[in-house]
Amino acid sequence: MQRHQNYIGKWVPPETGQYYQSHNPACPSQVLGDFPRSGTADVDAAVASAATALAMWRQTQAPQRSAILLRFSQLLLESKNDLARIVTLEQGKALCESIGEVTRAAAEAAFAAGEALRLSGQTFPSERPGFSCYTVLQPVGVVAAIMPWNFPVVSPVRKIAPAIACGNTVVLKPASLTPHSAVFLSGLLERAGLPPGVLNLVIGSGECGERLISDPRVRGISFTGSTAVGVRIAEKLAARMAKVQLELGGKNPAIVLECDDLDGAAQEIVAAAFLCSGQRCTALSRVIVDQSQADQLCQRLVTHMEKIRVGNGLDPQNTMGPLVSRQQLETVTGYVRKGLAEPSSLIVGGRQLAVDPDREGYFYAPTLFDHVSPTSALAQEEIFGPVLPIIRVRNAEEAFDVANGTRYGLAASLFTGNRHLVDQFVERVESGMVHINHGTSSQPHVPFGGVKDSGQGAFSIGPTSKEAFTNVKTVYIKW
Ligand code: NDP
Repeated sequence: MQRHQNYIGKWVPPETGQYYQSHNPACPSQVLGDFPRSGTADVDAAVASAATALAMWRQTQAPQRSAILLRFSQLLLESKNDLARIVTLEQGKALCESIGEVTRAAAEAAFAAGEALRLSGQTFPSERPGFSCYTVLQPVGVVAAIMPWNFPVVSPVRKIAPAIACGNTVVLKPASLTPHSAVFLSGLLERAGLPPGVLNLVIGSGECGERLISDPRVRGISFTGSTAVGVRIAEKLAARMAKVQLELGGKNPAIVLECDDLDGAAQEIVAAAFLCSGQRCTALSRVIVDQSQADQLCQRLVTHMEKIRVGNGLDPQNTMGPLVSRQQLETVTGYVRKGLAEPSSLIVGGRQLAVDPDREGYFYAPTLFDHVSPTSALAQEEIFGPVLPIIRVRNAEEAFDVANGTRYGLAASLFTGNRHLVDQFVERVESGMVHINHGTSSQPHVPFGGVKDSGQGAFSIGPTSKEAFTNVKTVYIKW
C-alpha cells in the first residue's frame, strides 16, 4: 500500500507520524492508500513555507508564472486518464465524468495562465497638474484553499491556478475523503516547474482547516463546501479583515412553465440532477412545474431516469457511481425517510442499491418525489444526493416565489417557450447563475458563483476570479 506525504517545500512525512487510509466508495473494503493525518505543526510549517516563498514568487515576472501554469495545464491533459482513474476510485463518479473534470481543470488552468498577463490596473486623469494617478493589482499574500470532495481536481485548480497567477502562495487542504487527487496535482505542479513553497499541500481533517483559518499569516481563504463551515470561515476572517471567497451549497430550481419541449427539458433536468450522484453544488435539486404540465413532465423524467445505469464508475457502461461515503449515504437515506413521512409521493427510487452484494458500495437509486410541499425538508435543504423533488405550482408568480423561497441562491434553470417569462425570470430569480432551456452547466472562462447563503466574495472562474486573489493599490505621483 502506497504511503503518501505532505508537500511543504518538498515531500515530507507528517510531524504527527500518523496516517489514515482512504477507501473506494464503490467497494469500501478496498484501501486506496495511506495519507498523512497532519496536525497543527504540519499546518504551521505549511503556512511558514508559503510565507517564506511569497517574497520570491510575487516578484517572479508574470510571464514566467504564466508559462508554469501553461505547462501545468498541458501536464493535466497528458495525465488525464491516470488522474481521472484516481478521481473515480476515491470519489466514485463515473469515469467519463472524471475525464471531463480533468479536461475542464486544464482549461481553467490555461485561462489562469492568460490572466497572469492581464493583471492590469487603471489610469485616471488627474484634477491637479503634474500628477499621475493609477491603480495596480497586487497579490493578497498567503492564501489557503480548503477543498470539498465532490470535485477533487477542478476545485483545487480553480483556486490554486488563479492564486499563483496573481503572485500569491498557497496552502492547500484537500477534503479528507479525496486526498490522492491533491497529491497528484501537487506532483504535476512540481513537474511544471513551480518553485518550492509556492504551493504547499497539507493533508488532514477539518481541524487542520480550522488551524489554517486561524493563522494571521493567512491573508485570504478560498473555500468550497458546506454553508455551515463557510459561515464560520467568514466570521473568523472578518475579525482580522482577511479576504474570503466562499462557494457554498445550493438548492437549485428547474422551473418548467409553458414549455414546448418537455422531453428535452426532462433530459436536461435529469442530467443536471444526477451527475456525480447529485453531489454537485450546482445540481438541479428542485423541479417547480406548472400543474398543467406536471404529469407529462413527471412521466418523461422517469423515462430518462430509467436510462441511468448505476454501478462502479470504472465500468464505462455505468453512468452514475456511488455516493462518496457511508455518511453521505446515511444523509440521503435520512432525507428520503423524511420525504416518505410527508404527504408527497415517491415515484421512483428511494432505496440503497446492492449493485454488487459482495462489495457493499454506497450506491443509491435515482429518486423522484412528486407533490412535494415547498416548505418541506426535501424542498428546502441541500440533500447532496440523487433525490429530486417535484413541486407543482399554479402560475409563474407562484413558481418564482417558490424558487426564491430557500436560503440558497446558486444556480437556477427555466424551461419555457415564452420569451416574456425569460425576461421575468432573469430579473426576479435570486441566483448567481441562471440558465434558460438547459441544465446548470458552466464554462471555463465564465464567472461562477452564488448569492444569499450560496456564496460570498468574488465569483470564481473567468475574469472575476482575480478579484479574490489581488488587492488594489492606488498610486499618486507628483512630478
Ligand atoms: P465541509 O464543509 O465540512 O467540508 C469541506 C472542507 O472543509 C473539507 O476540506 C473539510 O475537511 C474542511 N473543514 C471541515 N471543518 C472545517 C473547519 N471548522 N474549518 C476549516 N475547514 C473545515 O463539507 P462536508 O464534506 O462535511 O459535506 C457536508 C455537506 O456539505 C454536504 O452534504 C453538502 O451538503 C455540503 N457540501 C457542499 C459542497 C459544494 O460544492 N457546495 C461541497 C461539499 C459539501 P474534512 O474533509 O477533513 O472534514
